[in-house]
Amino acid sequence: MQSRRTILRAGAGLALTAASLEVATGTVFAETTATGWAGLAQQIQGDIVLPADAGYAAAKELQIAEYDAVHPQAIAYPESPRDVQALVNYARTKRISVRIRSGGHNFNGWSTGDGLVIDTSRLNHATVGSSTVRVGPGLQSIDALHALAPYNKQVIAGTCPTVSPGGFISGGGIGYQTRKFGLGSDRLRSAQIVLADGRLIRASATQYSDLFWAIRGGGGGNFGVITEFEVAPIDAPRMVFFSTTWAWDKAEQVFAAWQTWQMNASVNLGSALILNLPDAAPGTVPMVIITGGYHGPESEAQAALAQLTSLIGAQPTSNYVADLPYHEAMKTAYGCGDLTQDQCHREGTGPEAHLHRTAWQRDAYRVFNQPFTPSQLNSLVSTLDADRVAGQRRVLHCMAVGGNSNFTSPTATAFPHREANFVIGYVAQLDAPTPETQAAASAFVGTGAGVLNPLSDGAYVNFPGSSLPDWATQYYGDNYLRLKKVKNAYDPSNFFRHPRSIGSLGE
Ligand SMILES: Cc1cc2nc3c(=O)[nH]c(=O)nc-3n(C[C@H](O)[C@H](O)[C@H](O)COP(=O)(O)OP(=O)(O)OC[C@H]3O[C@@H](n4cnc5c(N)ncnc54)[C@H](O)[C@@H]3O)c2cc1C
Repeated sequence: MQSRRTILRAGAGLALTAASLEVATGTVFAETTATGWAGLAQQIQGDIVLPADAGYAAAKELQIAEYDAVHPQAIAYPESPRDVQALVNYARTKRISVRIRSGGHNFNGWSTGDGLVIDTSRLNHATVGSSTVRVGPGLQSIDALHALAPYNKQVIAGTCPTVSPGGFISGGGIGYQTRKFGLGSDRLRSAQIVLADGRLIRASATQYSDLFWAIRGGGGGNFGVITEFEVAPIDAPRMVFFSTTWAWDKAEQVFAAWQTWQMNASVNLGSALILNLPDAAPGTVPMVIITGGYHGPESEAQAALAQLTSLIGAQPTSNYVADLPYHEAMKTAYGCGDLTQDQCHREGTGPEAHLHRTAWQRDAYRVFNQPFTPSQLNSLVSTLDADRVAGQRRVLHCMAVGGNSNFTSPTATAFPHREANFVIGYVAQLDAPTPETQAAASAFVGTGAGVLNPLSDGAYVNFPGSSLPDWATQYYGDNYLRLKKVKNAYDPSNFFRHPRSIGSLGE
């Protein structure tokens, strides 16, 4: 029998991490000497960690352990925009490649490389103003909850407690709040950025407006190092968190009902459907989970869930509903309901940090405007379940989007998916990867991508695919040409880059 805690954890953090076949490392233009780094360290308030330092192994870790194989020349922790300027100027002058990192969650390792990693995790302030909130790019979602709760203000966040605004807002930002309040990037009012030439500017609707357009959905690591986001907070004093589970043999019925239910629901309802095959080993229990948040009275949430049960035509195997202060509801959604704030961080990042990293992952997420037909649903679920392999955890993860976020024009910001109703992906995870198990897991995800591709309407840059043909069009649609113009205007030498950065097709 799964405990509620197990079930909540199983559902938390999905929009899972995934690694990639793409090469995570960047091109190192030049090496600098220990003396060079020491001189740079003198110029900044923050720290620089080098390979010989005791903390280096921990400093280079991302959420996915596969990228421990990448060895940056240096990892810098700036503590102010001025520090970031010094780091950018140094790297540009010395011709050292740069990767920018905040929460380190990029599925494909785009936030690490062989040169200098500028880690903005210490830029993690939260400053509450009269109508906006200013947050540092490194303010993890769990810490934003705690910092803002005393002011009864909150910001859009996803389903993982340690994802940070640096990547989340830059790439779009989808959460249970999105159908009601929009994407995280839709609520951006301005951003402070260090550009490739070292200038510190603030982009907004009236200043550097082309850049402001691009950083709302264009994806992180493209245009500069964002050192602060100014966002409009959401009015969400409470949220009804729910997590219901259903028997595996009802998977297709639940999937069919969920998409109908969610598409016809009030914008107050945001949810995810998770088809979870933990392993193929004896005794492991596949689960169908519907979890999410309702921004309204508990009675309305209960009525909506009763409607879901009626659409499915079967009772859930478990059902947890709690009307909670917003920050407690989100902490529960993160699977951290019974952890302290300090414990609700990635292991290795603090003495009490408790959350595990993912050893290895591959994924294939796509964006969908329309619900699936019964035969398409059958194909999706059968693909998930076919030829299961012991030790391979498989998930089909479906997030509801749309609602009020679709009332923004596809060209108003760089995020183009304004007719989307779902973001759906196959994920395979391994705890102890070997070349053989990696090949099998990659093959499974490749098969899943083959099923999703012909039905899809694009892809979400914050859930980058392990292998995504025509990625520029998939991520950005018609906005890609404009993104390239902005890139050329602000970073003509392509200083900020990663394997799928704007313009990296060399066009
Ligand atoms: C477990 C898990 C759950 C998730 N759940 C959701 C979800 O519910 N909804 C959702 O929308 N997304 C979700 N995501 C995806 C997440 O939004 C993206 O991975 C996001 O880009 C992570 O941002 P980061 O700063 O934590 O990661 P990083 O890896 O540090 O950065 C991601 C990208 O942004 C760039 N970047 C980082 N900081 C900056 C900066 N200061 N300035 C400019 N560029 C920067 C990096 O170079 C990289 O390209 C999830 C990811 C994981 C791993």
